[in-house]
Amino acid sequence: MSAIDDLPPLREVIATHGLSARKALGQNFLLDLNLTAKIARQAGDLSGSDVLEIGPGPGGLTRGLLSEGARKVLAIEKDARCLPALAEIADRYPGRLQVIEGDALEIDPLAHLTPPIRVAANLPYNVGTELLVRWLTPPVWPPFWQSLTLMFQREVAERIVAQPGSKTYGRLAVLAQWRADARIVLSLPPDAFTPPPKVSSAVVHLNALPEPKFDADAAVLSRVVAAAFNQRRKMLRAALKGTAPDIEDRLMAAGIKPTDRAEQLPLEAFCALAREVAKG
Ligand code: SAM
Repeated sequence: MSAIDDLPPLREVIATHGLSARKALGQNFLLDLNLTAKIARQAGDLSGSDVLEIGPGPGGLTRGLLSEGARKVLAIEKDARCLPALAEIADRYPGRLQVIEGDALEIDPLAHLTPPIRVAANLPYNVGTELLVRWLTPPVWPPFWQSLTLMFQREVAERIVAQPGSKTYGRLAVLAQWRADARIVLSLPPDAFTPPPKVSSAVVHLNALPEPKFDADAAVLSRVVAAAFNQRRKMLRAALKGTAPDIEDRLMAAGIKPTDRAEQLPLEAFCALAREVAKG
């Protein structure tokens, strides 16, 4: 019996179902159920929420989310070998776990979820970053999710929460912090995982804000920020040359020195610039 439920320990689950970790699927499993319950607690009050979990694997975090009281967990897993292990969890928590086999990048889970919805995942890092960008740039705001609680490699987590003036400050920070509160809530060493990855990891928690922190058109802001950070060592008047013919005037109208660099510019200034550029 495990620490958080009466299901077998994860090492036993992995041995029973032959779930040797596959590198191609980015499989680094969390086997400590106290730790997965702790991650689940970072996701906020789960009792009144549906939780979308991407990449449950053998189900460590899934069990954490369910034992912490999630109303329902919808788990999307690409590796069919994990399905029997996940079915055992579904039996233990009747009506509260639904598993979809498939690629999270191709499945629209919304038909199966009832708001409020929280997202929790320990995913391969490349898939995680791509999904994060999608979740941060929906056609309308507020998004379908109330919060995202996601494991990243430490360096990516730092890029999400970075502040102006730091080397890690860039497009991801502006995108994440414009319409969400983002913070690192847990740091994990490589040996928290089986097998251990090469680098440390961190869990980032993002809460969706009802409104953006500063007014701006999402598409214009995204274009300006991408151009500014594409040439982050250049002064903004050079980096943004293609954005508007009179970009130097627009920078000044937004209260920004044309000789500044993207790395120094706070979120508020990027939004002011996006508003100036949107004037046409
Ligand atoms: N959540 C489990 C844990 O914490 O132990 C497994 C984490 S492991 C880092 C990532 C999981 O995501 C694996 O089970 C893998 O098969 C799954 N996965 C990888 N790519 C995926 C994709 N595109 N869609 C859904 N699941 C995916």
